[in-house]
Amino acid sequence: MKLVFERSKAGRGMDLFPACDVPAYDLPENLKRVVAPRLPEISEIDLGRHYTELAKQTHGVNDGFYPLGSCTMKYNPRINEEMCALPGFTKVHPLQSEASVQGSIKVLAKAEQILTEITGMDRMTFQPAAGAHGEYTGLLLIRAYHLANGNTERTKIIVPDSAHGTNPASAIMAGFKVVNIPSAPDGCVDIDALRKAVGPDTAGLMLTNPNTVGLFDRNIGEITKIVHEAGGLCYYDGANLNAVMGMARPGDMGFDCVHINLHKTFSTPHGGGGPGSGPVGCKEFLAKFLPGEMPEENNGTLTMGVPSESFGRVRTFNGNFLVVVRALTYVLSMGKEGIPEASQNAVLNANYLMNKLKGAYDMAFDRICMHEFVMTLDKLHHDKGVSALDVAKRLLDFGIHPPTMYFPLIVHEALMVEPTETESKETLDEAAEIFLKIMDEANNAPDEVLSSPHGTPISRPDEVRAARTPVLKYNFEA
Ligand SMILES: *Cc1c(COP(=O)(O)O)cnc(C)c1O
Repeated sequence: MKLVFERSKAGRGMDLFPACDVPAYDLPENLKRVVAPRLPEISEIDLGRHYTELAKQTHGVNDGFYPLGSCTMKYNPRINEEMCALPGFTKVHPLQSEASVQGSIKVLAKAEQILTEITGMDRMTFQPAAGAHGEYTGLLLIRAYHLANGNTERTKIIVPDSAHGTNPASAIMAGFKVVNIPSAPDGCVDIDALRKAVGPDTAGLMLTNPNTVGLFDRNIGEITKIVHEAGGLCYYDGANLNAVMGMARPGDMGFDCVHINLHKTFSTPHGGGGPGSGPVGCKEFLAKFLPGEMPEENNGTLTMGVPSESFGRVRTFNGNFLVVVRALTYVLSMGKEGIPEASQNAVLNANYLMNKLKGAYDMAFDRICMHEFVMTLDKLHHDKGVSALDVAKRLLDFGIHPPTMYFPLIVHEALMVEPTETESKETLDEAAEIFLKIMDEANNAPDEVLSSPHGTPISRPDEVRAARTPVLKYNFEA
């Protein structure tokens, strides 16, 4: 398709600016542009068509099945958008007086109350703008705790080899050293390896449960106990809470702090880069170190106050506030019955689809899964030369977004499928048929799969080049 610059015709601009309502200010000459910016000039209808054409080339959850494991691409109810578009939320300024934004502070306080109840924590900050940012924040809490206790030698964070890649990265960013421990053959934490890894230099453990292979670690109580007895703290990566929301609480499993991704489990649209929100909850003993400002109530009036030993800020003001409005709308409209029901359906859907595929696809772990399952195409790759990537590409021809590929790293030729609770049985049945058809092709007509996708705007870009040398600006001279 044509780029917007290629559609541009001189004089066809449509810049309708409202009249200026503040005194005009004349910039000094040396700060003024000498040459006008080369913006595309295009009429409203052609611009509309341009973006519609672009939108049609992509695939969103509104287009079809989107089983992207670990990323929770669920349907996001429209009422969330209506609520966060209310002028009372969109037209406030973060520097307004607290008395004039009582409603917005109440949103933060209410979201904190409900989400700490769901996670089993005592307080929660909404500063972090994403999951990884939440991890970083939670780790700074752990750091602040150890430093306040004079434990400067606690410099190591234990991370299982099945962890999301952001975990070790966040630990390094927060100034820790990472100690990797292997998973046991069942995909869960190797208890002996954990026992060997903890010691007087342990600052804490980072863990996802259910883990990244979609399994609930049955030893979770013992795991957090081992870390606590060694003097470390336990961090729960709750980016994807879709299997346990309303069913089991990280706080009850023994975790001291947790982040959750509002842009996954709590139904804010994501993909394409945000905005997100990765609030961090913690137990009472860590609350005094929290960053930014926290809502407090004094005689019915809400104020924002800095915790007594706050380690600082991780973002301006209160993070991506409108994402919190969406999440609050979601939990309030789901209610106490709807939240656990969503988790149960997420687990049911994953197990239903897993069982439909089981005969044809090899499962990495033959166990009842939680909200997602991992298949391994190692044998298919070896026997027929068809890889997980090839199957993922072929799915595009059938209007299915590929599952997460090559993650977790401990599974070879991995495809990680998370249907989510919002898909119907019919959609899952159709998806299963497509998966089975592709497996049949892979075995009997592998070229069909190897040369796919056949019906997308582009077929197989050079992915390394696309990632390493992306073309991000229009070259006017060429
Ligand atoms: C998505 C995810 C993250 C990172 O969240 P971002 O918002 O992308 O930074 C961390 N851990 C797990 C388990 C995740 O699924």
